[in-house]
Amino acid sequence: MSQVKYKRVLIKLSGEALAGERGVGIDIATVQEIAKELKEVHDLGIEIALVIGGGNLWRGEAAAAAGMERVPADYTGMLGTVMNALVMADALEREGVITRVQTAINMQQLAEPYVRGRALRHLEKDRIVIFAAGTGSPYFSTDTTAALRAAEIGADAILMAKNGVDGVYNDDPRTNTAAIKFEELTHLDVLKQGLKIMDSTASSLSMDNNIDLVVFNLNETGNIKRVVLGENIGTTVSN
Ligand code: UDP
Repeated sequence: MSQVKYKRVLIKLSGEALAGERGVGIDIATVQEIAKELKEVHDLGIEIALVIGGGNLWRGEAAAAAGMERVPADYTGMLGTVMNALVMADALEREGVITRVQTAINMQQLAEPYVRGRALRHLEKDRIVIFAAGTGSPYFSTDTTAALRAAEIGADAILMAKNGVDGVYNDDPRTNTAAIKFEELTHLDVLKQGLKIMDSTASSLSMDNNIDLVVFNLNETGNIKRVVLGENIGTTVSN
C-alpha cells in the first residue's frame, strides 16, 4: 500500500461542489459521488474533518450588495452551510461512514455544538466531523473557518478542493490560456501577490499557524486520494 502523507486533514469543499452541473442548489447524486470519494480516503485510515461552504445557496456579500444588511445576510449564509453539512453527513452515512455535524451556532436538535475536545474524540474514533455554520460570526468566510478549525484540531494540512481549477495560477486560467500554474508557493507570496486562493484573513491565519494548504481540482475522480498519498497534482502553499 502507498504511504499516506497526511494523517489528519481538514478538507474544504466550496458549496458549489455540491451543486454539480446545475451550479446552484444541492444535487444529491453529486454529493453522493463526493461522499464515495471521501469514504475511500477515510478507508486509508486518514482522519477527516470537513468544512463546506455555502456559496451554492447564498452569499452574504452579494445579498448585502443587493441592499440587505450585512450581518443578517451573513447569518443566512451560515445557515446555508448547515444545510450542506446535513446533506453531506447523510450521504456519508449512506456510504457506511459514521459522521458528526458540529455547528458554530447552536441548533442542538439537528447537530452538536462545536466543542473542540469532542471533535478530536470523534476523529480518534474514526468519525468524519463536519464543521458547519462557519465561524459563527459574520464578516468571515468558510475558508477562514477551515484555517481556524485546522489549527484547532492540529490538522496536518488543509486540502482545498476546487471546482474545475487544478491549482493556483498567476492569472485566471479560464480567461487567460497563458496563465502559469504554481507547484509551490508560500503563504506570504499569496498575500503579497494577491493570489485568489482564499481570502486574506484565511491566508494570514494559515501563515501564522504554519498550516500547509494543498489546492487541487475536485472534479477529477480520485484526486483527494492522490493528494493524501502525496502526489503533486495541485499547488502546495506553506511557509
Ligand atoms: N459566512 C459567515 N461567517 C463565516 C462563514 C460563512 O458569515 O464564518 C457566510 C457568508 O455570508 C458567506 C456564506 O456564509 O458568504 C457562505 O460561505 P462561503 O462564501 O465561505 O462559501 P463558499 O464560497 O466556500 O461556498
